[in-house]
Amino acid sequence: MKVFTAIQDIRAHIDERKRQGEMIGFVPTMGALHEGHFSLIAQALKENDAVVVSIFVNPLQFGPNEDYEAYPRMLDADLEKAEARGVDIVFAPSAAEMYPEEMQTGVRVHEGTEVLCGKSRPGHFDGVATVVLKLLQIVQPTRVYFGQKDAQQAAVVTNMGRDFNLPTEIVTGPTIREPDGLALSSRNVNLTSGERREAVWLYEGLKQGALWIEEGTYRPREILEGAKHTVEANISGTLDYMDILTYPGLRPVKEWNERVIIAGAVQFSGARLIDNIILSPGQKGRA
Ligand code: AMP
Repeated sequence: MKVFTAIQDIRAHIDERKRQGEMIGFVPTMGALHEGHFSLIAQALKENDAVVVSIFVNPLQFGPNEDYEAYPRMLDADLEKAEARGVDIVFAPSAAEMYPEEMQTGVRVHEGTEVLCGKSRPGHFDGVATVVLKLLQIVQPTRVYFGQKDAQQAAVVTNMGRDFNLPTEIVTGPTIREPDGLALSSRNVNLTSGERREAVWLYEGLKQGALWIEEGTYRPREILEGAKHTVEANISGTLDYMDILTYPGLRPVKEWNERVIIAGAVQFSGARLIDNIILSPGQKGRA
């Protein structure tokens, strides 16, 4: 496995591999790698000749009072795990390598950010879109992989791909969960043991809402009230939001005749967790 920290070095290496006709799969991450990342990596390994994983905690996507400093960083352990899972190339740049000076330009996301995480994290998706565009320019992959767990992020990036005619194919993979249902997240290590036990209630509330949606008459207000109650009655943290929207459009649902997402976020003392379920009409499918 090759590890690069300099943009010009990884570029030269990937140029060479592409000259040899290799298809490159790319999995961008912020590190503290877990089975959620590894499922995307496994899919990328199947569909490409070589897989690049980036490990970069992107300062641009954190708000001033968010957990940029406390975000778990464990590069040595990540490199070991990545190698064991068959990753070919890791790109782990410093913030100074990615942002040698203040950016004079950036991507502004102006649709789909007034809801869900966009509402409570102003500027977050601009930071995500900007770093993803930079990373795609650096790696120039054939395909890039995102997890459904961060559904709004996957939608924003997919929209950016279309808006900017990006040549990379954008692929989303399913959410990977702990045996009790909690979605895997690097932030889970920042939960207290009590919060870890409670955290599963976010998914329980979403599942309840999803079940009611599947059962028939679509009454978003009542469904959300019930699902929110389930979460709030069982956690010490605060429910930041829970909503039902069309997916990937992220617009209010009028009739249940297209895919919908039920998504929620909970703020615990040291970690903000998000989760969602995506439902297709006429099909009891869950992501
Ligand atoms: P992160 O390191 O949290 O920024 O995540 C990197 C990529 O892994 C993103 O595309 C995430 O959506 C994806 N990811 C994170 N957690 C999971 C999970 N539990 N299941 C599937 N994908 C995930």
